[in-house]
Amino acid sequence: MRRHVSVSRYLGDLLLGSDPDMRLRLGQTGLALLLMLMGMAVVLWAAWALDRPRGPLYLWTLSSLLAIVLVYMTIRCGWSRHFRDPSLTLPQMAIAIACSASGYALMGPVRAIAFPNLLIILMFGMFGLRARSALGISIYALLAFGLSMAVMTSISPETYPATVELAHFMMLVIVVPAVSVLSERLSRIRRRLGQQKQELAVALEQIQRMAAHDDLTGLLNRRHMQVLLEQEAQRSLRSGQGFCLALLDMDHFKRINDRHGHAAGDAVLRALSDTAQTVLRRSDVLARWGGEEFVLMQAGTTISLARATIERLREQLARVALDYGDDFPRISFSAGLTEHLSGECVTETLERADRLLYDAKAQGRNRVVAG
Ligand code: GH3
Ligand code: MG
Ligand code: MG
Repeated sequence: MRRHVSVSRYLGDLLLGSDPDMRLRLGQTGLALLLMLMGMAVVLWAAWALDRPRGPLYLWTLSSLLAIVLVYMTIRCGWSRHFRDPSLTLPQMAIAIACSASGYALMGPVRAIAFPNLLIILMFGMFGLRARSALGISIYALLAFGLSMAVMTSISPETYPATVELAHFMMLVIVVPAVSVLSERLSRIRRRLGQQKQELAVALEQIQRMAAHDDLTGLLNRRHMQVLLEQEAQRSLRSGQGFCLALLDMDHFKRINDRHGHAAGDAVLRALSDTAQTVLRRSDVLARWGGEEFVLMQAGTTISLARATIERLREQLARVALDYGDDFPRISFSAGLTEHLSGECVTETLERADRLLYDAKAQGRNRVVAG
């Protein structure tokens, strides 16, 4: 069974390639080829049943198949990627219509088979065509069939009487533009749907970003950080390795707000987030926990290295000069740093970090207390 699956996958890859876009294009061409083959079988059977000359029909079958196989090869070898439409919709339609119109000339009494065939070709291709190309291919179809009818009326009027051919042609003049208008409408709906889908994807990404981040600082918000902490705790349960967790709280923040205004307070919070970008490792995660409090998670490190990182952040932040007057204080924070022990609950770790933060405040602020 498995062997069967791998053989069919190998064959699928060989015929259609592994690129999903190419598979779609070739799948479409393959379906067209299949329909063409079935139509040809009906034509050949009718010629055999009516005992009509089959030599020209064999030649027609062969050249039509050759043309469509050429299209298939152009897509399969990747060459068609250089064209504006890598699916080669227009050339495929032009070839199929030429086959249909020339088949009409060879089929004699069963030539009406060509009409539904032409409509299928038009519907097939027109989903992907713009209005101008759709109009162009409709005119081309009318010309090809008109030519075929005119030639056959003049060389074989007993099988292709002029009145019948004229009636056939008039019907085509009515039906072909109608099909092209309908197909173009469908193609427009399809394009609009595609555009809306893209817009929705962008909006969804924006919403997901907004749901996970804090507006002011751009850092992760508390909700998302809680999820990450739980995930990290689960991971540490499996690996047996804990992670470092610190609670940071700006010092005398209320005073900054009161003396320099709320905008200055906001600028301080952003300064912490900006400075953290330059100091922290990619694997460190800093989140705004609320107000002027932050949580820092550092995995895969020792508590002394984690402490060094926070000290560096503290030093860098002290160097930041904000444009709120000469009497603006140095920005500082206090931090409580601890290690999440494998198996314990994240709330316990946070409570321990909070107690250490309290100690840091009590010891005079602007420091890291680890424990
Ligand atoms: P301590 O050093 O003991 O931490 O003192 P503190 O003044 O920093 O602490 P406190 O908790 O008394 O004050 C925190 C202030 O942070 C109160 C609140 O108005 C302010 N705050 C909370 N969120 C924001 C914010 O988004 N922007 C600004 N500008 N201020 C905020
Ligand atoms: Mg606070
Ligand atoms: Mg504070």
